[in-house]
Amino acid sequence: MSELRFEELRGEQVAYAIHRQERTFLPDRDHCPLCPTRPGGPVTEIPVAAFEIAVFDNRFPAFEAPHGAAEVVVYTDKHEGSLGTLAPERAEALMWVWRHRYMELGARADVDYVFIFENRGVEVGVTLHHPHGQIYGYPFLPPVPAREIAADERLGGCAPCKLLGDELADGRRVLVETDAVVAYVPYAARWAYEAHVVLRAHRASLLHCEAAELHALASVLQTLVRGYDALFERPFPYVMAVHQAPTGADTHDGHLHVEFYPPLRTADKLKYLAGSEQGAGTFISDTLPEESAAALREAIDRAG
Ligand SMILES: [Zn+2]
Ligand SMILES: [Zn+2]
Ligand SMILES: [Zn+2]
Repeated sequence: MSELRFEELRGEQVAYAIHRQERTFLPDRDHCPLCPTRPGGPVTEIPVAAFEIAVFDNRFPAFEAPHGAAEVVVYTDKHEGSLGTLAPERAEALMWVWRHRYMELGARADVDYVFIFENRGVEVGVTLHHPHGQIYGYPFLPPVPAREIAADERLGGCAPCKLLGDELADGRRVLVETDAVVAYVPYAARWAYEAHVVLRAHRASLLHCEAAELHALASVLQTLVRGYDALFERPFPYVMAVHQAPTGADTHDGHLHVEFYPPLRTADKLKYLAGSEQGAGTFISDTLPEESAAALREAIDRAG
């Protein structure tokens, strides 16, 4: 059972999920719990011999009913690969799975915020290499989406709409553009290769998207991840965060977008959150977003 405690100095919740210490840690591929259960082989988390996309409750949940949810989303029954290398139809199907989980979890009275995310790479604490993401249903509105709502109020309208307009007008940091979706390195990127993938139309969530928009979203996410991998010719670690409208009773609007926070600042150097970032909350970056965007655009071209 998790316990929530409120940290008064920062005004934010901390979740204690001590059972998570027993999690499976980087098993070899013969003992991967996210692989299908092969006939005669060990029983994994997924008791079938083949599957496309699998969703199940996290066995080591940070949140669980009646105080939230924690789910695992396995992208494929193939152990190798990534979001970038999935077949395009599978990546598109993943958008529909995300949409369905947002709808179901968001409808629950104990879930105020549905957060779809992926941690990729040991650099961001991944414990299983099999391509997968996670979904948390928070029983409260967490600080980052709350800050985005505050940005809407500060800017007197939808912040992602305004910021997307600014990025398109400037153009220097734009990475990929389609009719429906744009990816760019934000003007004030905190991470060297941070990127935001934003719906052009104001869509509060995946539920508000048309089928063509989900198709475009999948395609741009894949293009970006392949570009990341081409940048330093190595699998590129990141945290991917899908931001959508909160689902609690105290509802707010939102604007669907996906943020990527990669910890690499060079092929072999990590950005650590240190004194200024942790103690003062101010990121110090040694790369300019315009230069990162140019390098990423070139990598995206190379990856094709
Ligand atoms: Zn596996
Ligand atoms: Zn908007
Ligand atoms: Zn966001």
